[in-house]
Amino acid sequence: MKYQIKGLVDNRNSTLLKELEKNYSIKVELVDNTLEYGCYSINYSSTIYVPKSNICSDSFTHELLHIYLRSKGIFIGARLKRKTQNSEILSQIYTEPLLDHIGNCLDHIKILPIYLNLGFERSKFLIDFEKKKCTKQEVEQIKRYWKQGTKYNSQVIEFYLEKYFAIKACPNTDFYYGNIIQELSQIDEKLFSINEKLINRWLEMKIEPQDILEDDYVIIAEDYLYEMSNWVKSKTENDNEII
Ligand SMILES: [Zn+2]
Repeated sequence: MKYQIKGLVDNRNSTLLKELEKNYSIKVELVDNTLEYGCYSINYSSTIYVPKSNICSDSFTHELLHIYLRSKGIFIGARLKRKTQNSEILSQIYTEPLLDHIGNCLDHIKILPIYLNLGFERSKFLIDFEKKKCTKQEVEQIKRYWKQGTKYNSQVIEFYLEKYFAIKACPNTDFYYGNIIQELSQIDEKLFSINEKLINRWLEMKIEPQDILEDDYVIIAEDYLYEMSNWVKSKTENDNEII
């Protein structure tokens, strides 16, 4: 496509765009009443939603990089979604908004370094860059409602995971999460370590594997969900239940 809108493409992202356009049809749609960028892709066609009142090459590049991961055949969010929605055990805690959030956070972890490398501004990576992704009070809430008698609350587990992934994908290095992370690990060590393992393998995974034996996102997602379903089962043993 031709980018008529001034301010989206410059010498930092034009090569990336050209590369993507070899296989993707990329459309831009201007939208009103929002500052947030978005992207919708199906097969080899993507539409980037650009807020009329916030023309910004940084945010535009952020969306291009989501398409970039697609172009490399990496669909971790979609994979986790399909697998959990087909599982009676996992669908107890993974709701659709949580799965969208996790997929997004995982993408962000992978694309932030590329975005910075291209010369874009860290502070423009996310619209809520200045917002701390988890507060002390939120951790206190999780702690307080984690278990009532023999019952674990699925919404609290969901909230825990939402916060955990948001922290891991937070691009703002001014925030210190060390104490919060420690508290999250103390609430449930097993849950914490399963998710830490996912993040660590995801960080190490190469976008373009050189060797068939290297970790790929499908194996990482499968192992993660296998461990998570064992974890969910362990929370429903010995008269315990998730409600
Ligand atoms: Zn994004």
